[in-house]
Amino acid sequence: MEILKNKIKEYGVLISDQVLKVDSFLNHQLDPELIVDIGREFAAIFSQDEVTKILTVEASGIAVALTTAMELKVPCVFAKKNKPSTLQGNVYSSVVYSFTKNETVTISVAGNYIEPTDRVLIIDDFLAMGSASRGLVDIVKQADAALVGVGVVIEKGFQQGGQELRSAGVRVEPLVTIKSLSEGIIEFE
Ligand code: 5GP
Repeated sequence: MEILKNKIKEYGVLISDQVLKVDSFLNHQLDPELIVDIGREFAAIFSQDEVTKILTVEASGIAVALTTAMELKVPCVFAKKNKPSTLQGNVYSSVVYSFTKNETVTISVAGNYIEPTDRVLIIDDFLAMGSASRGLVDIVKQADAALVGVGVVIEKGFQQGGQELRSAGVRVEPLVTIKSLSEGIIEFE
């Protein structure tokens, strides 16, 4: 996605040689046109896969998951962090470590929102070490649903999450892949 690459080049801010800040259009302030375009792109990539549900994790995955769900005309479910008391009954949970926040959280989805008949597409903003995606894959497995794949807006190819998921047989589709963030330069694959 050329438009996404241009946004990253113009507005992306390097926090370190590992972390890219995209708060001005994806992670804090949202660029509505771009978010809609991202949804269209994911929907086109997975158009033949009979997706019945989009799954993401709060909060930064929700916008792009929603526009993808709107294009594919399916519901969008987001895993909640730190299981609220309102989440009762049959609940699927998984433990996720965030290296950007240096914290471990339990993500949870109510059992009635993912069913064994579902074909689930996981959508998220970033793929880094893969912990968030692995947690969501784990929830899809607990629900006995079919996993279609993982769509991520930005994959950081120099971190091992994508490689590990692909080795485990998961289809991973990034819209852009970053090769390196070292020496203050954003290098795309
Ligand atoms: P992972 O679980 O793959 O290590 O990281 C995925 C999550 O961490 C993403 O959903 C995102 O919220 C956050 N994250 C990882 N790397 C970055 C990054 O370079 N920049 C930003 N803004 N968030 C990141």
